[in-house]
Amino acid sequence: MTELIDGNAVAEQIRTDLQDSIETLADAGVRPGLATVLMSDDPASETYVSMKQRDCEEVGIEGIHVEIDEDAPAQELYDTIDDLNADPEVHGILVQMPVVEQVDKRRVLRSVDPEKDVDGFHPENVGRLVAGDARFKPCTPHGIQKLLEHHGVETEGAEAVVVGRSDIVGKPMANLFVQKEPLGNATTTVCHSRTADLAAHTREADIVVAAAGVPEMIDGEMLKEGATVIDVGINRVDADTEKGYELVGDVDFESAKETAGAITPVPGGVGPMTRAMLLYNTVKAAGAQQGVDVELP
Ligand code: NAD
Repeated sequence: MTELIDGNAVAEQIRTDLQDSIETLADAGVRPGLATVLMSDDPASETYVSMKQRDCEEVGIEGIHVEIDEDAPAQELYDTIDDLNADPEVHGILVQMPVVEQVDKRRVLRSVDPEKDVDGFHPENVGRLVAGDARFKPCTPHGIQKLLEHHGVETEGAEAVVVGRSDIVGKPMANLFVQKEPLGNATTTVCHSRTADLAAHTREADIVVAAAGVPEMIDGEMLKEGATVIDVGINRVDADTEKGYELVGDVDFESAKETAGAITPVPGGVGPMTRAMLLYNTVKAAGAQQGVDVELP
C-alpha cells in the first residue's frame, strides 16, 4: 500500500509547534516581523505573497507588505530593501521572485541583510549551507527534509536523486542531502536538463525529489519499487475546469503511486511545507536578532 505523504498535516503540526516559540518571543516583548516585497503584476506571484501574508497573520507574525509598481525604476526596490534592512521591527525580508526585467536579481539577493534573509538565498547563507553551518535553510528543501523526518524516511546511506538544479530547490536540496547530519548522509545524484538518461538514475533511487517544472515527466516506470517520491513541481496545464487549468506536479501521480512506497500529492504535498518553513525561518531570525533563545520544531 502506497503511503500518501500529507504536507498539509505536517505543515499544520509545524505551525502549531511554532506557536510555542512565538509565545516565548512574546514573553520577551518581541513580535516577529516578516516583510514581503512584490514588484510584479504576475498573478501567481501576487497569490504567493498574499498566502504568505495570511500565514503570518494566522500564527501571530507581523506581516509587512510593500508593493512596488512593476514599471518603477529598479532603484525603488533597492531603496526599499535598504529601508527594511534598517527597520528593527522587520526580522525577515522576502523579495518575491522572479524579479522584473529592469531589476538586477543578483544585486537583490546580495542586498538583503543576511540575518534577515529568510529565503536563504544571500551568497553568505548559500555558503554557510554548503559548509554545513546553515543559518537559514531554503524553505522548500528544508520542508522536504521535515516531510521525510515526519514520515520516518531514512536518508542515511540512501540513494537520493534530485531532478533539477535550480538555486532555490535542486541545488540546496542536494547540498542538504550530502551534509553529514541528520536528514543528510544520502548518496546524492543531481539530474538536470542535460542529463543523458534520466530514468537510469531515477530507477536506482530510494528517494526521488522531482523539481524540474515539467508536467508529469516522471512516471511509475522510472521508479524503483518502494521509492519515496517527493513532487515539488507546480505546473498549470489546460483542463476542463472553471479556471480553464489544473495544477499538476512533475510526477505522473497515478502511475507513480503503483511503484512508489510513499508519495506527495500536488497540491497538498511540498507547497504547504514551503510556506510553513518560511514562518519557521522568520521566528528563528527574530530570536537571533533579539537575543532570545527560541526552541524550534
Ligand atoms: P527552475 O525552472 O528554476 O529549474 C528547473 C530545473 O529542472 C533546471 O535546473 C533544469 O535543468 C531541470 N530540468 C528541466 N527540464 C528537465 C528535464 N526534462 N529533465 C531533467 N531536468 C530538467 O525551477 P524551480 O524554481 O526549481 O521549480 C521547479 C518546479 O517546482 C516548478 O514547477 C515550480 O513551480 C515548483 N516549485 C514548487 C515549490 C513548492 O513549494 N511546491 C517551490 C519552488 C518551486
